[in-house]
Amino acid sequence: MTEIPDSHPRAHSLRLRERLVAGVHTGLTSEAGLIAHGRGEVFDYLLGERTRAFAQNALSVASAILRTARHPMISVNGNVAALATDELAQIAAENPEIGFEVNLFHFSQERVHRIVEHLRGAGIHRTLGSGLSDHERLPGLESDRAMMDLSGIAQADVVLVPLEDGDRAEALVASNRQVLAIDLNPLSRTARTATVTIVDELTRALPRLCEFMREDRGVSVDVLQTRIKAYDNPRMLAEAVEAVRTGT
Ligand code: ATP
Repeated sequence: MTEIPDSHPRAHSLRLRERLVAGVHTGLTSEAGLIAHGRGEVFDYLLGERTRAFAQNALSVASAILRTARHPMISVNGNVAALATDELAQIAAENPEIGFEVNLFHFSQERVHRIVEHLRGAGIHRTLGSGLSDHERLPGLESDRAMMDLSGIAQADVVLVPLEDGDRAEALVASNRQVLAIDLNPLSRTARTATVTIVDELTRALPRLCEFMREDRGVSVDVLQTRIKAYDNPRMLAEAVEAVRTGT
């Protein structure tokens, strides 16, 4: 792996690339995942590689929704597993009510199994794999991504889908689930479909989400619901598009 000095102005971004390349070599990430990451990098570059106020707002609402959920799940794909193992492990350690399910666009049982083992090895023991055991299909989706573990996403009322593709986000919303997306592209179908879209880089967003959830642990359901009701996702997306366009 290439040594990246801390003094490099884009050290974090370069290290993320290294994590993803390592993920391809260890079989967690598909080669196509590298291209998806590149699309994210462009938007992050335009957004100044920092968490903006609109993303903070979306993160605080995502926290409130996760805190008031009956059966919250986090859907993990190959990019997410390679980029954010530690960040997911932190969320898992602090929030035992949240489940994890590996769900892949470029599906193979072997790769699902490998990612499940990778996450369990990092301490995320409540990890399931779509298609590894009893499952049902999410209506309206042709691909293997439709598989939902019967005790995982099939039961979920809220699903956090970092780096999702639009078809699955749409099918999850159509199934009456609340969908929380992390996506640097405010124009993507996923961003436009989700209940709450966090327009921020995955490895910056997850630790901040974890902080909000820690702070919200003692907050009353009434206060959390008031926060959720006041939120306007289309307005937040308009702010994000404006930030991309103007760089401010
Ligand atoms: P859609 O189907 O929703 O219109 P898409 O086809 O552009 O989206 P994919 O290629 O399936 O999307 O997924 C990549 C998405 O993830 C892109 O929108 C990209 O901006 C985003 N993305 C990639 N890497 C990151 C990251 N590290 N943090 C946040 N978002 C990211």
